Amino acid sequence: MSFKNSEKLYKKGLVNLVGAVNSPVRAFASVGGNPLFIKKAKGTRITDVDDNNYVDYVLSYGPMILGHRHKKVQKAIDKALKNGYTFGASTKNEIKLAQLVCDAFAGMDKVRFVNSGTEAVLSGIRLARAFTGKDKIIKFAGCYHGHQDALLVAAGSGLATLSMPGSKGVPEGAVKNTLIATYNDIESVKAHFKKHKDIAGVIIEPVGGNMGVVIPQNTFLKELKELTKANDALLIADEVMTGFRSKFGGAQELFDVEADITCLGKVVGGGFPVGAYGARNEIMEMVAPLGGMYQAGTLSGNPIAMAAGIATLKELKRQNPYQYFEEIGGILEVILLEKAKEYNVDLVVNRFGSMLNPFFKKGVVTNFEEAQQSDTKKFAVFFWEMIRNGVFLPPSQFEAWFLSSAISERDLDTTAKAIDKAMKKVSEM
Ligand SMILES: *Cc1c(COP(=O)(O)O)cnc(C)c1O
Repeated sequence: MSFKNSEKLYKKGLVNLVGAVNSPVRAFASVGGNPLFIKKAKGTRITDVDDNNYVDYVLSYGPMILGHRHKKVQKAIDKALKNGYTFGASTKNEIKLAQLVCDAFAGMDKVRFVNSGTEAVLSGIRLARAFTGKDKIIKFAGCYHGHQDALLVAAGSGLATLSMPGSKGVPEGAVKNTLIATYNDIESVKAHFKKHKDIAGVIIEPVGGNMGVVIPQNTFLKELKELTKANDALLIADEVMTGFRSKFGGAQELFDVEADITCLGKVVGGGFPVGAYGARNEIMEMVAPLGGMYQAGTLSGNPIAMAAGIATLKELKRQNPYQYFEEIGGILEVILLEKAKEYNVDLVVNRFGSMLNPFFKKGVVTNFEEAQQSDTKKFAVFFWEMIRNGVFLPPSQFEAWFLSSAISERDLDTTAKAIDKAMKKVSEM
């Protein structure tokens, strides 16, 4: 297997791009070696510039839930393109996508579209502060909520991979209203509420996906909801990754918890840059032009992106692949665990429907600290052996693998064979 063309492009890219990438995880820093450059993708398969073909479990970090270039999505995009690219005025499709989104989330009457998950969350935080008139926000160690200043502390994957304590360039003042709690530890949240009276909200990934996959235990989310309510604070669900992914109504539907504010991204744009935040009327009426919280965007509600989002959500609803995800995800989980046992490798597999994650360690992973105990050197060896056997995984221990509804028996077969080889290689370290 040759990576010659990727290597060439990487060297060329270093001149005018930072690290030859536009998002740090793409640089392969934590698995070593040069990053792959991609030429094209279709369905479950992705092809690099050396014409190597892989089963794709990155899926652009989640958005491509139907697989790449789904016929219906492609058609919707082609149609939208013929009418123009952006108008700076409202279009019918914005209303259509808004209806689809509000129908999916019980606690959402109105939604505002933005251009990324980062933007959705930073707006959601502003909204929680505007509505409550309070300043402090509680976040959980290991949860990632985009790269806004206020939440770039203890922020999971990208930062965990690069072992950065936070980020340079974030002034102390920007994080002075951010309180850190421990995932799955309700007492750590209670302690903050006891000490601080000015907490506007608690933001959480209702299923952790940026420290590897971490599942909320038992009644954790329900207790969180009660705790915020009792303290006149809002529960902000960052469902940028989980929204539409393992249930159409996100993790909130599965765990039967209704957040006050929900943030979305990834799947909602069907592969185009879309984020969204929504809530019940009383809260959303704070947002301009109805209320005094300002938030705007030149390209927000972009017609091409709206068309891709509508086509993706409609097709998702039609396919209803969530049972299929459960089956396929379960099969992959079993293969990983069986091969780990066969080759005597310590392994924990966490899975939430169509998101899953192996950790190379003993015991369990229920929070960031336990996730960080994974042997990332083993992951790096595993990663490259998977690549050499035709499977494209996220190049970081702390990123979830994603499934698309297009995945086939043949893809699973390729994956199973690769896992066998990769686990063997890990056992020989
Ligand atoms: C990806 C992600 C974000 C950031 O979204 P971008 O579109 O990358 O800005 C925020 N929160 C969560 C939970 C995410 O997974």
